[in-house]
Amino acid sequence: MTKNPFFDTWSTPFGMPPFDHIRPEHFPPAFDRAMAEHNAEIAIITGSAEAPTFANTIEALERSGCLLDRVSRVFSNLDASNTNDALEAIARDYAPKLAQHQTQIALNRRLFELIDELHARRETLGLAADQLRLLERHHLRLVRSGALLRPEQKSQMAAIAERLAVLHTRFGQNVLHDERDWQLVLDEADLDGLPDFARAAAAQAAKDRGLEGRWVVTLARSSAEPFLTFSSRRDLRRSLWQAWTARGTHQGANDNTPLIQEIVALRAEQARLLGYDNFAAYRLDDSMARTADAVESLLLQVWSPAKAKARAELAELEEVARGEGVNEPIEPWDWRYYAEKVRQAQYDLDEAEVKPYFVLDNMVQAAFDTARRLFGVTFTELSDLPLYHPDVRVWEVRDSAGEHVGLFLHDNFARPGKRSGAWSSRYRDQQTLDSTVAPIVVNNNNFSKGAPTLLSFDDAVTLFHEFGHGLHSLLSRVRYRSQSGTAVRRDFVEFPSQIFEHWMSAPETLRRYARHYQTGQPMPEDLLRRLLAARTFNQGFATVEYTGSALLDLDLHREPSPQRLDLAKFEREFLDRISMPREVGCAIARRISSICSPAAAMPPGITPISGRRYWMPTGTRPLPKPATSSIPSSRRGSKPSTAPETPATQWSSIAPFAAAIRRSRHCSRSAA
Ligand SMILES: [Zn+2]
Repeated sequence: MTKNPFFDTWSTPFGMPPFDHIRPEHFPPAFDRAMAEHNAEIAIITGSAEAPTFANTIEALERSGCLLDRVSRVFSNLDASNTNDALEAIARDYAPKLAQHQTQIALNRRLFELIDELHARRETLGLAADQLRLLERHHLRLVRSGALLRPEQKSQMAAIAERLAVLHTRFGQNVLHDERDWQLVLDEADLDGLPDFARAAAAQAAKDRGLEGRWVVTLARSSAEPFLTFSSRRDLRRSLWQAWTARGTHQGANDNTPLIQEIVALRAEQARLLGYDNFAAYRLDDSMARTADAVESLLLQVWSPAKAKARAELAELEEVARGEGVNEPIEPWDWRYYAEKVRQAQYDLDEAEVKPYFVLDNMVQAAFDTARRLFGVTFTELSDLPLYHPDVRVWEVRDSAGEHVGLFLHDNFARPGKRSGAWSSRYRDQQTLDSTVAPIVVNNNNFSKGAPTLLSFDDAVTLFHEFGHGLHSLLSRVRYRSQSGTAVRRDFVEFPSQIFEHWMSAPETLRRYARHYQTGQPMPEDLLRRLLAARTFNQGFATVEYTGSALLDLDLHREPSPQRLDLAKFEREFLDRISMPREVGCAIARRISSICSPAAAMPPGITPISGRRYWMPTGTRPLPKPATSSIPSSRRGSKPSTAPETPATQWSSIAPFAAAIRRSRHCSRSAA
């Protein structure tokens, strides 16, 4: 074996991981040594003969596990962005070991005694605000991990954590394998309706898969969605849609259905041991929303108006379909296709007309320029750093005084071995405890690569949204690592990204950076006006899709007896109960893929849509129940609601709110 780079100090510029020297076989010994070192550091804290102080306990805890953090971050980022059989095998092997390691520390009796003692007299310790917060968060973390439980309950908690780590890992790998194994191979005769950019992307995907001269559509959103929008081949749209929405639920080796049932049951057991009624109550207790009722109340304010809006949209789609001589009902694989026709008719706006103005590189520059204007930071591309894939690019970030802020890596293209969605993550967190440590941030997207790569309007918003998360990490100014950047409450973390994404559609951004990829000409004012006017188009469909998913997520995690859950039946009955419009598509299995994903340490109410994940921002205190309708719950033994639904006219009052939720991509790895 080559020398293990994790056992050396990295001499790469800015402490960038030496990707050119890191091999899969380096991870197991590095994990083993890192866990042993971490245990030794914890033993020093718990074995000290001195009385506990903030410095010898909390700060010592902050300093512990550095090697483990370094190894884990490189591993988890590579496993998400550029995995292979070797990394996947290591993930399966080490997920339970790492879970066991963390649980043992969290349930270490002596460690908790020390922290508990400090916590009890925290107001008298003369701590600064960040230190007080740090002490409180460490204490709460241990309590929520089971520190106050009896020994036999602690054993149960440990066993559950270990098993969940196994299940979460298998779950994510199953989805990835389904995505990797499935492709729609097309001949020229199958391309009817596809605009040039979609044909070019499909040709490139075919080339990447050794099928030069043909065309391939994959389950990446940036590949599937244009096909569903433009292909006039209903049979192919149906095949694609069914495969897209069934990822991880095909019978066989990649089937996640039994895993979901076990995960939901184990989470409920975990919550019960900790004294909560259900997992939703446990998970949300440490969020700004605090309760499942608060989350549900907020979701319901959107749900009925969104359904009414979707029904109105459906009527328009049916009219267009009838005009084309199609008299069959609209199916989920038809929605995007006919919606695009309605959009063209109502707003005189054609996706194929818009896309040539959204060149990826220009929009990246637009994001950098926006950050410069807002925060004074500049981005300079570096060409001499080792990277893990040729698609990845890296920039040095400096502040207005020219001081180094951190590194920003951009990994923008879909490929086999990269999980779907868009997310922001770090290789290193900012902190200043012993010395100034600058962050190393990576943003991932899954755009179809082209020459040049052209984005949809929605892709460009996603790019900016993730960039907002990236800035949250880059602009962090804290003393302690565990308070760095996006290490905030889960229902706060989307705030900076949601704010930032709005600069993408600011007219001054578009006028300057939305330029035609061939002529370099700015987008004509008339097109710009039509584009911005159409932003709320089809939002009934989008809002129903994610809100229905969020409500399901919440209900599943409030289920009183998940041990005996028949998932298919649960889904069916739930969809009936909330009157989910059939035409929007009930791809619940897809939604559940987020609920049970490895990154699922998130509150219920977070839902994925077609590979992206959306997160539901919730208020700091419970909101009043909406008067218009409610979701009756079988748990409460009530019948389906007959309450009148909010009329479509009320859509306008919630549309901006709904659009904001829609934009809030959940970016799991940016989460604390
Ligand atoms: Zn996000």
